[in-house]
Amino acid sequence: MTKFVLVTGAGGFIGGHMVASLLQQGYRVRAVDIKPQWQWYQRFPEAENLTLDLREKTNCYQAANGCDWIYNFAADMGGMGFIENNKALCMLSVLINTHMLMAARDVGATRYFFSSSACVYAGYKQKTTDNPGLKEEDAYPADPEDGYGWEKLFSERMCRHFREDFGLETRVARFHNVYGPHGTFDGGREKAPAAISRKVIQAKLSGSNEIEIWGDGLQTRSFMYIDDCLHGVQAIMHSDIREPINLGSAEMVSINQLVDIVEEIAGVHLKRRYKLDAPLGVRGRSSDNTLIKKLLGWEPSTPLREGMEKTYAWIYDQIVNTSGKDSVVNLY
Ligand code: NAD
Repeated sequence: MTKFVLVTGAGGFIGGHMVASLLQQGYRVRAVDIKPQWQWYQRFPEAENLTLDLREKTNCYQAANGCDWIYNFAADMGGMGFIENNKALCMLSVLINTHMLMAARDVGATRYFFSSSACVYAGYKQKTTDNPGLKEEDAYPADPEDGYGWEKLFSERMCRHFREDFGLETRVARFHNVYGPHGTFDGGREKAPAAISRKVIQAKLSGSNEIEIWGDGLQTRSFMYIDDCLHGVQAIMHSDIREPINLGSAEMVSINQLVDIVEEIAGVHLKRRYKLDAPLGVRGRSSDNTLIKKLLGWEPSTPLREGMEKTYAWIYDQIVNTSGKDSVVNLY
């Protein structure tokens, strides 16, 4: 019988792509998000689409009812600028994660996926730019990103204990910066790849020839293309990997190198203005993929340059076709 799958956060970036992927594979899908449906990044009429606030327990039961598998992507989150300034809002996602786990258990769902984050990793392991890659055990002794990271770490533990105490099969992946088309690229919740693409496009269209970069540009990260994320999530969901596992790229770059890539794609060379008092997060972060390679024989491998070309093209199209060239300059 065809599995009935719930995707929460389906109006957002990763959830929208996951609904597309599951529908393509023939699953029956219920897609849920708090946003009104005209605001969803992707919306598919073949899915059962519901607007519900999943902080509310009864809404979680309504969302989960009848579903075999649950992919929980719903969270109040964004890039560094958002999570450093909205710690309480980030922590309130614990309501979503608690109530969704309870609902999954009580409606008899057989498998539950939780999207955790590299923000669970201990800050003291990420103080230099030459980070060798975070291993799963580097989450403890705990010193996660304040607010957002603590909530993710707590919810990871809840998944573990729901599995141990109630027999709900939970799977947890720690995403390292996911990027791609159909994501947030403005408004304050966007992450570095989308924000830098938007700023380069804006500089190009306005002729300002200048870009503002948060920090000194030497901080390092790795970025995972959305197709790798979708593949990894589903492979983990289908596996017997019960402990939290890294899902990220090991191609570490500095923010300056990311800007180099986007400038090259755009065919521009911009003057860089460094905003040193901007929210920065940790100094250096990448994914150690030893465990995922061992357990799945696979790791995210889309080259950053290749993924950024697709992401840049999509954001360019959004800005030019949605706003019109003239208004873009005023919009941002
Ligand atoms: P997103 O913001 O695009 O999607 C999250 C969705 O959740 C949004 O559409 C939002 O409206 C919805 N949501 C928020 N509160 C809700 C509520 N109360 N009820 C129902 N829906 C609600 O983010 P994303 O990038 O797609 O991230 C998906 C998941 O992956 C999140 O849990 C996030 O923490 C995690 N994650 C993402 C990244 C990344 O780089 N994108 C990195 C680490 C972890």
